[in-house]
Amino acid sequence: MTNTSSLKKSNLLRIVQTIKALGPVSKPEIAVSTGLTGASVHNLVKELESKGLVKEIGLSSSSGGRKASLYTFNSSSFYLIGFTATLNTMTAAVYDLDYNTLYQNDVDFNLPANSVESGMTTVVEEVRKAVEHAAVMPGTLLGIGVSFPGLVDYEKGVVIRLTNAPRWKNVPVRDVLERELGQPTVVDKDTNAALLHIRQSRTQAAPVNAVFLSISHGIGAGLYLNGGIFRSNHGLAGEIGHLSVDCEGKLCNCDNRGCLELYISNRALYEKAKEMLPSLDREMNYADNCIETIAAAMEKDGVSPMTMFTAASDRLARCIGDTIRMYDPDEVIIECAWLRRYEEIYRQLCESVFDNNNLIDRSAVTISLNTVENIWVKGAAALVYDKQFSNYTSELMGFSSEAGEA
Ligand SMILES: [Zn+2]
Repeated sequence: MTNTSSLKKSNLLRIVQTIKALGPVSKPEIAVSTGLTGASVHNLVKELESKGLVKEIGLSSSSGGRKASLYTFNSSSFYLIGFTATLNTMTAAVYDLDYNTLYQNDVDFNLPANSVESGMTTVVEEVRKAVEHAAVMPGTLLGIGVSFPGLVDYEKGVVIRLTNAPRWKNVPVRDVLERELGQPTVVDKDTNAALLHIRQSRTQAAPVNAVFLSISHGIGAGLYLNGGIFRSNHGLAGEIGHLSVDCEGKLCNCDNRGCLELYISNRALYEKAKEMLPSLDREMNYADNCIETIAAAMEKDGVSPMTMFTAASDRLARCIGDTIRMYDPDEVIIECAWLRRYEEIYRQLCESVFDNNNLIDRSAVTISLNTVENIWVKGAAALVYDKQFSNYTSELMGFSSEAGEA
C-alpha cells in the first residue's frame, strides 16, 4: 500500500471512529478531534454519507454564528456475524456496526471430547442459524468472523493447533465456512480478536501498543503493536501460557515443562482447590463459571480461597512484568474471572507488577480488567469489521485491492 493511500484510509477510519464515539457531531468538531483540515473532513464525510455509513441528522443549536450540520454513524448500514469457540461452548451472534446484538445463541459443545468432523458440523450449523437470523437486506452482511482459543494461520484461515483440544490440527475453517455458506470469512486467535474489538472503540490518533491477556481454561495474549494486531508467521506469538516458569515442573501437553498454564489456568486452580477441599465436584468443566463454583464451595466450607488466588496472582504479576519488558506496551488489559471476583487481589497484582521493577515506568503503562461483555464473540465479529471495512474504505477511496496493497 502506498503511503498516500494508507494515510487516506487511516484518516477515513479515524473520522468513522470519531463520529461513532462523539456523534452527533459537526464537521468542525471532527476536525478538532482528528487534527485533520476542515477541507479533508468535508470531503471524507461526504464520501461516507454517499455510501450510507454516515447520516446527517439536523443542525447544532449554536448560540450565534452559523449552525453546523450534525452527523451520526449509520450503524445499521451493514451487519456482522461473530462466532467463537471455547473448550465447552460455541457462540454465534449477529451485530450491527455499533455491536448492538441482533441475535446470539450459545450451545454446549465439548471441543476436546468430540471429533473435528463433529465440531465443524456444529460450527457450520451454528453460523448458518446466525446467517438465517440476520435476515438483513441483501448485500449488507459484511461476513463472518471466527475465533478459536489457540494457534491460527490468519492468512489461510486455518486453525493450526489447539493445545487443549489436541485433535484440532490444521483445520481449514475458513474454506469450509465459505464453501458451505458463501459468505466471506475471517479466522483468528481469540485474544487477537478480542483486542481488535477493544481497539476499534478507541479514537486516539496516537499509536498505542496494547496487550490483551486472557487467564481462563487457557492462558494467552493478543498483541497490538505499531498500529495493528501482531500476527506472526506461525501463529505462535502471544502463547504466554506456555512460557516456562519452572524448568523442573510438570510436563505440559505442549511437551514443555512447567508452563504458566499448569499453575494458573482454571484447571490448575481447580486441582489446587481440590487438594484443599476434597469434596469439590469431580465433574467440573473448566469454563469461567467454574471459578465462581470453586470459590463459593471453598467459602461455604470455611476454606479461604485467598491463599490460592494470591499465589496465582503472584505468578501472573511476574508474567505481566515479563510481557511489559518484552513489548513495552502502553496498555495491558486482562480478562480473568478470579481477578474480577477479588478486587483486592487485582489491586495487589497491579502493585506487584511495578514493585522491584525499576525498568518499568508505572506512569507509562496502564493495567486494567476487561469491561466488555461477550468480548469473545464481539471480538470475532470485529475481525470481519476490520477486514471488510478496510477493503470497503479502499474501494470507497477509489483504490483497487491490487493498487492498494503495493
Ligand atoms: Zn505448555
